[in-house]
Amino acid sequence: MPRYTYKCSGCGRVFDITHPYKEIRKLCIDEDCDGSVEKVLSKPISYQSRSPAQTQAAGSVIKETIAETKEELKNFKRSRKIYKK
Ligand SMILES: [Zn+2]
Repeated sequence: MPRYTYKCSGCGRVFDITHPYKEIRKLCIDEDCDGSVEKVLSKPISYQSRSPAQTQAAGSVIKETIAETKEELKNFKRSRKIYKK
């Protein structure tokens, strides 16, 4: 059976349940809660956030940061030399 993620509008609880494709869960898993639940499409969104384009962007940011750090280090050494004199 497929697995679905639901969020309850009453208590805010998010839960995963399995049920047949044609069925729709309407009640919270908490028996004391009378809030209505809605399907949450959490899994496809988390896959999108790991797209190759963003991974590449993150890699270039790291490279830039390393380059900036090297540059700062150079400037720091230079300034220390001046300071010593
Ligand atoms: Zn609830």
